[in-house]
Amino acid sequence: MNGAKPVVGAEPGHLIPAVGGRTRVFAVLGHPVAHTLSPAMHNAAFAAAGADAVYVAFDVRPEQLGHVLPAMHAMGFGGVNLTVPLKEVAVPLVARLDESAVQMGAVNTLCFAPEGWVGHNTDGPGFLRAFEEAFGRTVSGLSVFVLGAGGGGRAVALACAGSGVRAISLADLDRTRARKLAKELEEQFLILPVCVAESPDEAAARAREADLIVQATPVGMKPQDPSPLPETAFRPNQYAFDLVYVYPETAFLRFARARGARVANGLGMLLHQGALAWELWMGRPAPLETMRSVLEKAVYGRSR
Ligand code: NAP
Repeated sequence: MNGAKPVVGAEPGHLIPAVGGRTRVFAVLGHPVAHTLSPAMHNAAFAAAGADAVYVAFDVRPEQLGHVLPAMHAMGFGGVNLTVPLKEVAVPLVARLDESAVQMGAVNTLCFAPEGWVGHNTDGPGFLRAFEEAFGRTVSGLSVFVLGAGGGGRAVALACAGSGVRAISLADLDRTRARKLAKELEEQFLILPVCVAESPDEAAARAREADLIVQATPVGMKPQDPSPLPETAFRPNQYAFDLVYVYPETAFLRFARARGARVANGLGMLLHQGALAWELWMGRPAPLETMRSVLEKAVYGRSR
């Protein structure tokens, strides 16, 4: 779309193509969804790639999804992202699940096919790519501690288990949720040692033993949030990865860094899960640096 006119409100430097009769429409659905960074990231990517496409956000409650998805398919949406709390709700609503979505039991990306939506999950691979990019190695051979066994923690734990980690420990305020994930990991990965911390003290001890600590709770989303793990849970030469991406450094990452761990926030995972979705839709490499610069500007106030 060379020569496309920017739409009103486009940020300088981010040309958003003028929407016309042939424009392909993509969307993210979630509840709530107002603060999502996905439209800025994907619209910048479409513009950089010269694609006649636009990406918007809709607030959709779980009970509405069964009506919304067939309507979006009938209207010819190019693709859809799903975020909290719709990723599991979507599983029985799609025509087909890709292997990634079967393994995760959750869908974050829908691709259009004539017979209906095909569900994929790019959260796990997005985490693995972000880890490699941040630390220059894979998770293979590491022992991993995951705090939080909800959607994010589950995607990370399953992706790590499928990538040759040595052992996984889990902890969650909701111990039943952690135990359920542990059981699932044991059933899918028969020889992988998996355990659940039964108390906050045991969680801190398990975290300290691990080579990689992943923070997958919403603690840190507010600037005044304390770290969900004590400073003593960290040690030098560990890797600490916080899924939270709304601030450059959470209290969790501050503690980890102070104790000599190598740290990364969740921006890389957000970027790579988005880039993988974009590639599924567009069938070509995503303009990664454009997408990264949009996210960094939103979170750091500048591109680094
Ligand atoms: P979720 O489904 O609500 O799961 C979070 C889990 O953590 C819940 O089981 C919760 O238990 C538990 N929890 C809360 N506080 C805890 C604490 N102090 N100690 C131990 N467990 C605790 O949330 P989610 O969707 O997995 O998201 C978690 C975070 O990851 C969010 O900040 C989200 O934005 C982020 N995330 C980032 C990416 C990315 O691309 N960077 C991707 C996915 C998620 P209760 O329900 O009992 O409170």
